[in-house]
Amino acid sequence: MSAVMMDGRAVAKVWKEKIAKQTESLISKGITPHLAVVLVGENPASQVYVRNKENACIKAGIRSTVIRLDEGCTQQALEDVVRSLNRDASVHGILVQLPLPEHLNESRVLALIDPDKDVDGFHAMNSGRLMNGQPRFVPCTPLGVMKLLEAYDIPVAGKHAVIIGRSNIVGKPMAMLLLAKDATVTICHSKTQNLPDIARQADILVAAVGRPGFVTADMVKPGATVIDVGINRVDGQIVGDVAPEVAQTAGYLTPVPGGVGQMTIAMLLANTLDAAE
Ligand code: NAD
Repeated sequence: MSAVMMDGRAVAKVWKEKIAKQTESLISKGITPHLAVVLVGENPASQVYVRNKENACIKAGIRSTVIRLDEGCTQQALEDVVRSLNRDASVHGILVQLPLPEHLNESRVLALIDPDKDVDGFHAMNSGRLMNGQPRFVPCTPLGVMKLLEAYDIPVAGKHAVIIGRSNIVGKPMAMLLLAKDATVTICHSKTQNLPDIARQADILVAAVGRPGFVTADMVKPGATVIDVGINRVDGQIVGDVAPEVAQTAGYLTPVPGGVGQMTIAMLLANTLDAAE
């Protein structure tokens, strides 16, 4: 039996159309939602992500400004840009594209973003709110995963969700969101022992590792829902963290590309609209 492919592109399209309508109505009231993206350096993947975000904003009627800084820019210069965006009343959402070049202090920059404009949801105020069960801005990728589960009516309450990866961007907020929906949550990471045994217990398995083909069929319970967050470049192709053979074992599976990545962008638009509202 072959898994049902969860079509992130189709679900994201519905979200984007809804957001475009709401944006139009906000603009008619004199408010144009405005996302400012700060991009430091020439990282090719970051350039692509920023271009995709920019295009998605334009299509939805959301104003997008990209501030490009040189690879060698100083911490002070970057912080000055963030401060000026915080002060700019026409800007509703601020996103600093990660990763930053090595010499820059990422956590100091993220802490500087006005929490009310933090559409990526990486500020400690927003992660704390998520942890307390009073979410404001939720990180776009795990939020997109939840919306995809909802769109496919995948039951979450009481189910065992296993997340592989414990980053602040994906793994940890993913765990909080699943917990808030009454899943029993296990987080695995690079030091986890017997990871395949734990993964095999999952009703919902989320892979956010950054290693192509990390999740193999023997790690998946037959019929489980497998969410592939990974984005890896192999020989010029984009592949996820889940081996293709898993499609024969899982009940539901997100493709890469065309799965979670599409939802991430839709949720960024949703958060920006929310900030403007
Ligand atoms: P990260 O590097 O910050 O975290 C990776 C996690 O994987 C770590 O917590 C680490 O403990 C765990 N890990 C590494 N090796 C492991 C191993 N051998 N066994 C078990 N766990 C291991 O990465 P991230 O930012 O969380 O991103 C993860 C992946 O998701 C990457 O491929 C990234 O490109 C992708 N990503 C996709 C989207 C999207 O929109 N689809 C968004 C963000 C990240």
